[in-house]
Amino acid sequence: MRHKTITLCPTTYEIARKMDNFSAWIRQELMKKQATQYKAKPEIKEKYGAYCEPCDVTFLDSDPVLLQGRMPCKKCGKGTTYLGLIE
Ligand SMILES: [Zn+2]
Repeated sequence: MRHKTITLCPTTYEIARKMDNFSAWIRQELMKKQATQYKAKPEIKEKYGAYCEPCDVTFLDSDPVLLQGRMPCKKCGKGTTYLGLIE
């Protein structure tokens, strides 16, 4: 174990003093924080594209199945060209 000195105000000092497992509690809270941060990481979703030539518009979606097989353009309704993975 390693030591780290922390600064408490009179109120938090009193709370900490009454706790018999203050160090254990701090360790637990820090681990919780790390777990929360890890979970909070935004899920990176891959984007696939389908291009409509007449409209010059690329439609992006995370679901490649939706874009495959000449998905109709949302603007003109013509079949789009599947571009595959975009980003
Ligand atoms: Zn179009």
